[in-house]
Amino acid sequence: MSAQKRVPFIGANWKMYLMPDQVIPYIETIKNQIPKPSETQVMIAASPLYLWPLLKHAVGSDVIIGAENCDYHDTGAYTGEVSPKALAEIGIQYSIAGHSERRHYFDEDPTIVNKKVHALLRNQINPIVCCDETLVRTETNDGVHWVVSQVIAAFKNVSSTDALKMMIAYEPRWAIGTGITASADEAEEGCALIRQTISRIYSPEVAETVRVLYGGSVTPKNVKALMAKPDIDGVLVGSASLDPDEFLNLIHY
Ligand code: PGA
Repeated sequence: MSAQKRVPFIGANWKMYLMPDQVIPYIETIKNQIPKPSETQVMIAASPLYLWPLLKHAVGSDVIIGAENCDYHDTGAYTGEVSPKALAEIGIQYSIAGHSERRHYFDEDPTIVNKKVHALLRNQINPIVCCDETLVRTETNDGVHWVVSQVIAAFKNVSSTDALKMMIAYEPRWAIGTGITASADEAEEGCALIRQTISRIYSPEVAETVRVLYGGSVTPKNVKALMAKPDIDGVLVGSASLDPDEFLNLIHY
């Protein structure tokens, strides 16, 4: 059992869906209706366009505003990229890294994801690293090796002190945005595998402290069964986070 209580974490990942007129009404709707952060931490990860206004509107509430992605250079001549240093300076404390869509559509390989992890840690931002798994890999049992290799690559040259600042999300690609959720048992299997891998890289103590999340078609209906599993400390939510009322239902499962 956990040496230290892992606080549940529920993160919205808006991706590129919401338009500017939806952003402020959304945060105003949820900001005073979420649990205490000692009970459950709630994050909205949004496009860099919206981070500053969201941070301003979240002042005085417990909603965490996070980034969906950033570059691995701190600053410089990298046209169109998002600086992790600038994210930190505006007050961002969490960022997703290596989401399956970044790996798939933008060719982010495990080395790039590891560079992003280091850039975030260097700038005092907590990385939430996503590890994916394709259907072919799941069906051929290659998924285990694939997930483990992504976890090992994400933690490369990360100290155990810094590892404690990270979260890892198990997000099978076939479950993302498809309405096909992994069953609670399948999700637990993936999350337990990630925790065992962290234990092998560092120690059982580190593995018992790092939070492991599940993501992929999480809804207000299936969240309870997922959250009941011992190795699932939280969820990353795409589609079901786009409507503030649906997201609130999910948070208060
Ligand atoms: P989904 O997305 O909930 O729409 O499947 C999850 C994610 O991409 O993190």
